[in-house]
Amino acid sequence: MKNLATKRRLKFSLPVLRNGVEERAWCVMRGAYPKNLTHHAPRTTFNFLLLCGVILFLLAACSAPPVAVATSTSQPITEPSPTNTVASEPSPTAITPPTATPVPTEPVTGETQFDGANALALVAEQTDMGARYPGSAGHLQLREWIADNLTEMGWEVVREEFDYLGFTAQNIYGIANAGKGAPIFIAAHYDTRARADQSSGQEDMPVIGAVDGGSGVAVLLELARTLDLELIENEIRLVFFDVEDNGSGGIAGWDWIAGSRFSAENLDTIPQALILVDMVGQIDQELYFEGNSDPELQAELWQIAADLGYADSFITTQKYNMIDDHVPFAQRGIPAIDIIDFDYPYWHTVEDTIDKMSAESLAEVGLVIEFWLEH
Ligand SMILES: [Zn+2]
Repeated sequence: MKNLATKRRLKFSLPVLRNGVEERAWCVMRGAYPKNLTHHAPRTTFNFLLLCGVILFLLAACSAPPVAVATSTSQPITEPSPTNTVASEPSPTAITPPTATPVPTEPVTGETQFDGANALALVAEQTDMGARYPGSAGHLQLREWIADNLTEMGWEVVREEFDYLGFTAQNIYGIANAGKGAPIFIAAHYDTRARADQSSGQEDMPVIGAVDGGSGVAVLLELARTLDLELIENEIRLVFFDVEDNGSGGIAGWDWIAGSRFSAENLDTIPQALILVDMVGQIDQELYFEGNSDPELQAELWQIAADLGYADSFITTQKYNMIDDHVPFAQRGIPAIDIIDFDYPYWHTVEDTIDKMSAESLAEVGLVIEFWLEH
């Protein structure tokens, strides 16, 4: 910018200077104005004064700060080009490149908006607790951590304890907008699997459960932080199911989805809908229609995803039929869907770790749910 202005200054002033020097040299040589050139005197005087003016101008220009030079000299040749406008601005902030207007890539929801990086950090906090299968220290620690997080963010916490084959299980509910309208359940399981039976040779190792366990809990807690409840005409329950993931020998004799079955059989209120979030947040996220989900509700959520530009992740063809925590509610006639990415090569392996996940993928799921609830 500065170079451009200097170049223009020289181009502008040099012809004037040259005329002045020629005129002055002529005067010195002749010692006086010739009589026959008297009629030229006014022009000569004018040129001499112009020369003096130019010299004074150049002296002043050379001693002034560079930015001021650019400003004063570029003013006479101001052109309506954006470049020139920026070059002639004297303030330092104007010299720096203009900040690009942010392109809205995320939906306009309420005041606060789901943040994928926050959600990913919430996954990390869980995996830092180690394995979180029923009976482990991590499982007990996780229960308190979920409840504490909900309380801190102003949600009412209700714990639903029940016996499952001699184990004291516990579903955890975070409730907001209590009594405002028909409840909507947003759900996930929080327990992890005790055995990595998909890891050949390491079957007896526990699953850390970044995606399978960690992702759903993280999405729910980030929603707890970011939902603008005044925009929502329903009671909201964030439901953290226990004892989901230890069927088929995860823990000897246990079945799948025991927590959600207990919940669905012991409802104090019938939810208007249930959205289940399970195994989301993989780097290459692919969320297909799921066969046991309510088709209408599913289409509604997937349409929002398409509108937000997530059609590559939310795919409108059916691929799997899942036995998951939405099924006991669907069996009661409650519209329920499962947002799940079952094309996960590390499912029930020791490699279900956070390096397989991305903040962007978590944000896609969170923002679709947030948008659906707030509109
Ligand atoms: Zn699982």
